Amino acid sequence: MAVETTLRIGLTDVQRLTFECQKCKSVLGLAPARWFGTQHECPHCHEMWINTPDVQDAAHGIITGLKYLLDHEAGLPFALRFEARSRETE
Ligand SMILES: [Zn+2]
Repeated sequence: MAVETTLRIGLTDVQRLTFECQKCKSVLGLAPARWFGTQHECPHCHEMWINTPDVQDAAHGIITGLKYLLDHEAGLPFALRFEARSRETE
């Protein structure tokens, strides 16, 4: 029997954003204090992660946007939450 639960995560709950390299599977974790730029290549195998201006814009926008909302959360009229499914099979 599968049990599905929903996790609701707020920005203050996030400990790190993680980037996993598709090539070597190493993981880079960035704590909120480091949410200000983008990592252009894998720090382990040096595979290029940011390879087009569109990817650069999207990655930079989401990271800096999350940092802005986190830093200003107390003054916002809303709270941003992420919902994630968690499945367990018995
Ligand atoms: Zn890599």
